[in-house]
Amino acid sequence: EREKLSRLKNTPAVTLDGQKIELLANIEQPDDVVGALKAGAAGVGLFRSEFLFMGRNGRLPDEEEQYRAYRRAVEGMQGLPVTIRTVDVGADKPLDRSAARGDDHLNPSLGLRAIRWSLADPAMFLEQLRAILRAAAHGPVNLLIPMLAHASEIRQTLALVNRARDQLTVADVPFGEVRLGAMIEVPAAALTIPLFLRHFDFLSIGTNDLIQYTLAIDRADEAVSHLYDPLHPAVLQLVASTIAQARAQGKGVSVCGEMAGDVTLTRLLLGLGLRSFSMHPSRILAVKQQILRSDTGKLAAWAQTVLQSDDPAALLVD
Ligand code: PEP
Ligand code: MG
Repeated sequence: EREKLSRLKNTPAVTLDGQKIELLANIEQPDDVVGALKAGAAGVGLFRSEFLFMGRNGRLPDEEEQYRAYRRAVEGMQGLPVTIRTVDVGADKPLDRSAARGDDHLNPSLGLRAIRWSLADPAMFLEQLRAILRAAAHGPVNLLIPMLAHASEIRQTLALVNRARDQLTVADVPFGEVRLGAMIEVPAAALTIPLFLRHFDFLSIGTNDLIQYTLAIDRADEAVSHLYDPLHPAVLQLVASTIAQARAQGKGVSVCGEMAGDVTLTRLLLGLGLRSFSMHPSRILAVKQQILRSDTGKLAAWAQTVLQSDDPAALLVD
């Protein structure tokens, strides 16, 4: 079976009715691009940059170290696009597990994580933004912002991106242009998509967190893991409406949470209009196999019945 799948590596990801589907890789370190290319990925859809920051006893990578890491990933992808997400530490990805701060009674998932953490220290965030812009001089780069929920966060973030560009210009340091994207992973964001479409070039749906926050289920808590349900109708509605609104405006939209790599959900996501999936490289060929067997024309009507159902899982069995 694995051998059969590996033969699909160079087969274009196109549905029976001729829809081209973009299959991208999620990576954590620059060297992961090797696996991404091996799996036939069309690019990196999610470079989780926080892995450069974690487990270092609080000594964070400076602009140069980050620039070298991002450039390595960009050059490694040989002209294919690399989507670099700014730091998403906190909650399930603590900077340093040993650095207990006596605030265990608080909920880190609802605390200072991701873009909130970055905006709390603009000098540090600017270092990361400059490093990413500089890496963009070496190949196509998309800049992706995690956990946005408020218009004020969008404004501050975009102002800092502009400031980083200005700083590089003044210092005469070469940099490249980037496409700007927002993660949709908080229900508040999924419910205000027009705001995001006004400010960003593309959206990327982080279903891992979107499920967690929609259902009030800690994604890391095994005591409630049986309630962590990608097929809850509320989750599906948010995913579906995000895809539909982005497509209606001709903007790119991708799913980069675990749902994208789950072969039991491929046809449903295609039916909801998704044409770009980002996943662990090991999932790409199996998802491609599903795509090659799918007819999006037929799936669209079926997906609407799944959306209306009280029990979507029952409709997913082949
Ligand atoms: C997500 O939330 O779905 C996502 C892709 O981001 P992470 O898993 O890194 O939080
Ligand atoms: Mg997330």
